[in-house]
Amino acid sequence: MFAHPKIEVIWNSAVDEISGSADPLAVTRVRLRDTVTQKMSQISVDGVFVAIGHTPNTSLFEGKLAMDKERYILTTPGSTQTSVPGVFAAGDVQDKIFRQAVTAAGSGCMSALEAERHLAHG
Ligand SMILES: Cc1cc2nc3c(=O)[nH]c(=O)nc-3n(C[C@H](O)[C@H](O)[C@H](O)COP(=O)(O)OP(=O)(O)OC[C@H]3O[C@@H](n4cnc5c(N)ncnc54)[C@H](O)[C@@H]3O)c2cc1C
Repeated sequence: MFAHPKIEVIWNSAVDEISGSADPLAVTRVRLRDTVTQKMSQISVDGVFVAIGHTPNTSLFEGKLAMDKERYILTTPGSTQTSVPGVFAAGDVQDKIFRQAVTAAGSGCMSALEAERHLAHG
């Protein structure tokens, strides 16, 4: 990446504002804030992609459901049962390997069936 002629790495920077034009509807500029000096600068761009990272959105359940060190909710293998009986976890919050729509939907179906069974049979 560092050797690629079309990539420039800008360190210690946060996106402060994304601006553009209405006609044509387009992104044209990004304002960057230097996180060390707080100085603002601008760069001309044609688009912005936001990398959302891989931290699962599980902070709501911290201290309530058992998680691994990367904060994925732990479930019993072959099931969506969490550390709390009757609480089931499905999708990306408990899957650090596949993280796909179809696997999330599949585990959601497992959760629904397990919840139904839990409610019906205790
Ligand atoms: C850029 C990108 C591209 C992708 N491309 C593909 C692809 O091509 N094919 C593919 O199969 N998968 C793709 N995925 C992955 C796929 O989107 C996920 O695996 C899937 O959406 C996970 O489903 P989920 O239900 O577990 O989580 P999500 O879809 O993230 O749903 C979680 C929901 O919970 C809600 N929520 C969060 N916190 C709370 C709260 N406190 N209270 C109430 N609601 C809350 C959120 O608003 C959200 O609606 C992509 C993901 C990204 C980010």
